[in-house]
Formats: sequence, C-alpha cells, structure tokens
Amino acid sequence: MKELLKRQREIDETYFKGIRENTSLSYWGLAIGGEVGELQNYIKKYIRNHPKDESKEKLRLRIAEESADILIYLLILSDIFDFDLRETTYQKQEINIYRMKNKEHKCLGE
Ligand SMILES: [Mg+2]
Repeated sequence: MKELLKRQREIDETYFKGIRENTSLSYWGLAIGGEVGELQNYIKKYIRNHPKDESKEKLRLRIAEESADILIYLLILSDIFDFDLRETTYQKQEINIYRMKNKEHKCLGE
C-alpha cells in the first residue's frame, strides 16, 4: 500500500501538478462518490445482462477498473488525512471479527 501511495504522489506531482494544493476536500468527496456510482452502474449492467450491454467479460474488467479508481481516491484521502490505509483496513477487519463474535458495536480507537 505504501508503494501505491508513493506512486500516486509521483503521478500527481508529475501529471496533475498542484492538484493536491488546489483541490477542496468537498471535491475529493464528490470524486470518490462518482467512482462508486460508476462501479454501481457496471455491477447493475452485469446483473441485468441486457443484450445491448457490453459482454460479461468486458463488464468484469470495467468493474475492476472502477474499483481501482476508488482505491486511488482512497489512497489520496489517506494521504490528505494522514492515516495508513493498509493498517486501518487490518484494524477494521479485526473490529468486524470482534463484532461478529460478540455481536457488539465497536469502532476504531475503542
Ligand atoms: Mg472511473
């Protein structure tokens, strides 16, 4: 995950100069929401299996691509808010395991 973040920083600095400094938090929030919407749309098409839609294999690749877009925005958000996405994901998985075992609600930091 750190390698992905390092690469994203390099991409932003090289090809999107100033984007981090000149982009509002609300924009990043909208951007990730947009990518989630794109992912949902391809999942919808995959499920409905309409003849005019792309093939299942193409839709599967679109789903992978939109998932990657979401991960890129999550990496950027982790950089802006200064948290380790990989570590936080592990912690959240542990919380989810705890919840399932104990049927209790628990959040990060508790
Ligand atoms: Mg996209």
